[in-house]
Amino acid sequence: MAADDPLPPLRQVIAAHGLSARKSLGQNFLLDLNLTAKIARQAGDLAGSDVLEVGPGPGGLTRGLLAEGARKVLAIEKDSRCLPALEEISAAYPGRLEVLNADALEIDPTAHLTAPIRVVANLPYNVGTELLVRWLTPRDWPPFWSSLTLMFQKEVAERIVARPGSKAYGRLALLAQWRADPAIVMHLPPQAFIPAPKVHSAVVHLTRLDAPRYPADAAILSRITKAAFGQRRKMLRASLKGTVPDVENVLRDVGIDPTARAETLDLEAFCALARRVEELSQG
Ligand code: SAM
Repeated sequence: MAADDPLPPLRQVIAAHGLSARKSLGQNFLLDLNLTAKIARQAGDLAGSDVLEVGPGPGGLTRGLLAEGARKVLAIEKDSRCLPALEEISAAYPGRLEVLNADALEIDPTAHLTAPIRVVANLPYNVGTELLVRWLTPRDWPPFWSSLTLMFQKEVAERIVARPGSKAYGRLALLAQWRADPAIVMHLPPQAFIPAPKVHSAVVHLTRLDAPRYPADAAILSRITKAAFGQRRKMLRASLKGTVPDVENVLRDVGIDPTARAETLDLEAFCALARRVEELSQG
């Protein structure tokens, strides 16, 4: 809870360490510790849990995670200017915060934390989407994480929870709903951040499923959905040409109309298609 936080206010931390926000790193900081504690609580009961935080910045959310009882937090931050502020947090919570000055796309968290790991992050949106797809499509299941609690631009959050047939429905919805239960758990206005971004934000909480909803190879499903929604206005026989060999026949094999568009197909249909492509590739 913010009241238990032993450290100075974040405005003071930012001034003391000269942490002016950099656009190139997607830096929009949360300075209200009541808000960061609330986001930390969306990850579930953190008592005794290991947490991966990506992009801690000056550490508002990190402080929330530690105050909420995380056993250990691994915080990966690309901007070395943030390290002294994060060291101060580490000193206030001895042995519970490990900071890595690195690009999160390059780090294997399992070398530092004990599974099951909860992931919590307020990331630049481009990195966030790339990490989300990676975390949802490892070759083997279950992955290292048990839940993901991630801040996104509101429109991206809506794409993650979207249903077939809606405008927001696409690859993110399919991959997220294939292997997790995603829900929007919080909305944040631009003014919650310093500097205020142009967009509204939302926190999405994804609880991992023990088994994917339908069997399919992750790499094949990822490839097919990328091609299908990369040209979502086209009929599937055109958008999947080059990705699915003998596309019209293969689509018919699994009961999909080759003239249908990607947004009309549900998860079950995409998984059936991925399984058929796998079968054919195995001869
Ligand atoms: N978590 C802090 C907060 O809520 O106030 C900072 C959020 S800010 C939107 C995103 C943070 O991610 C920045 O501190 C930025 O330097 C860091 N960052 C950007 N790209 C990164 C990457 N590839 N790996 C690790 N950190 C990254």
